Amino acid sequence: VSDLAGRQVIVAGLGVSGVPAARALRGLGASVTVVNGSDGEAQRAQAAELEPLGITVRLGDGAVSDSGSAAGLLEGTELIVTTPGWKPTSPLFLAAAEANVPIWGDVELAWRLRGEDAPPWLAVTGTNGKTTTVRMLAAILEAAGLRTAAVGNIGVSLLDIVLGDEPYDVLAVELSSYQLHWAPSLRAHSGAVLNLAPDHLDWHGSMAAYAADKGRIYEGNQVACVYNVADPATEDLVRAADVEEGCRAIGFTLGTPGPSQLGVVENILVDRAFVADRQKQAQELAEVSDVNPPAPHNIANALAAAALARSFGVPPKAVRDGLRAFRPDPHRVEHVADVDGVAYIDDSKATNTHAAEASLGAYEHIVWIAGGLAKGATFDELVLTAAKRLRGVVLIGADRALIREALARHAADVPVVDLDRTDTGAMAAAVREAARLARPGDTVLMAPACASMDMFINYNKRGDAFAAAVQDLASGRVPDD
Ligand code: ADP
Repeated sequence: VSDLAGRQVIVAGLGVSGVPAARALRGLGASVTVVNGSDGEAQRAQAAELEPLGITVRLGDGAVSDSGSAAGLLEGTELIVTTPGWKPTSPLFLAAAEANVPIWGDVELAWRLRGEDAPPWLAVTGTNGKTTTVRMLAAILEAAGLRTAAVGNIGVSLLDIVLGDEPYDVLAVELSSYQLHWAPSLRAHSGAVLNLAPDHLDWHGSMAAYAADKGRIYEGNQVACVYNVADPATEDLVRAADVEEGCRAIGFTLGTPGPSQLGVVENILVDRAFVADRQKQAQELAEVSDVNPPAPHNIANALAAAALARSFGVPPKAVRDGLRAFRPDPHRVEHVADVDGVAYIDDSKATNTHAAEASLGAYEHIVWIAGGLAKGATFDELVLTAAKRLRGVVLIGADRALIREALARHAADVPVVDLDRTDTGAMAAAVREAARLARPGDTVLMAPACASMDMFINYNKRGDAFAAAVQDLASGRVPDD
């Protein structure tokens, strides 16, 4: 830690990860310059917060986009600490590679700054289900009487935890592919990759590069590498990893588990990997109905959380109690209300097709509200798997034509209302259209399969707009839009 005193460090980017990183580095005596490409009101407010601490902040700096001046900026710099928004191909990073300046993410920094007797990390990544699984894991660890917290990409800076005074026995850590990319020395107690589907390919450059970054979570694992039996790519990543001696590959499956796996037998979650009693083949953990909600993708999340907890020695009863205590975060297949016999479900967090496929698979007759920013995705596969369940579709958002065309190709009988709108009021109109299409017993599911930023600040606001529109519908109000 004392290493960083007097060192010249660049922090690439402000925001929820850049600001704590800059503060922590300054606190350790480093000489810190933060660079940030954009120069808006929010950035200026953050700069005003950092500058009194003796941190230099350069906003709207040409040096971050131009390789010649990037090299100049690097003069004397010994370390770059980056935030997720910055692509590996940024001119500053290419210049840093040339000049042999190391680049760490906030997770790498936290890992290196953790103390001697720091708590072990149980780490989770995957394309979808990370936040849910980490919260389930934290609930299970708590039920076991352990001092723990759900941290990392979930919105709690690991740096704040590592440098804070609160004592922990173990941490439940959510890691994004970006964080893993820049965390070369991280060594978890146990790690899990929940699933792998195309996402963020614009950042990583290719599916192979994205998968390899996710696979970094297994490197150096001490006790268990947890993988998804239904997703062989996750098992491939375990095989490719260099782990500590004695570390085991542990699979989870919605089917009957094999040896060294957790799975489901007659609606019971069972463990065949960490069975203490030699007389027994399997250990019962919980009932499927203990998982909230008990949808297949969520049972998979619960099994992954259970596997990580069991790798840390948590007893079966704590798994059950923890799962029962777990409450899902908002906007993840959240039941908003029933109106006229129709259930309205907010899955605004379904920001890619893999996530939307999971929730579309959980209902029989669906009026689907979809659309937004596609991030380079295609929709044929999703529409093909969902077609039989669709009562109707209401489309909003910038890239809705991509979904409309996939529907025309694979579900030509399904009525589609294309609202041709990208304003925030479009959500209320979409809910009214969906209500017209739905019959009693149906589900109106807002699972856009797209990012929200074309219409909303984030997926939370999109979900809030949906919920407000459903409440208006329930109370018979018709807002102006
Ligand atoms: P993440 O943190 O990886 O974004 P969340 O738990 O926030 O994951 O869930 C994101 C979205 O993915 C939600 O729409 C949720 O319903 C869906 N989802 C959750 N778990 C899974 C899973 N195991 N497989 C597919 N989709 C999932």
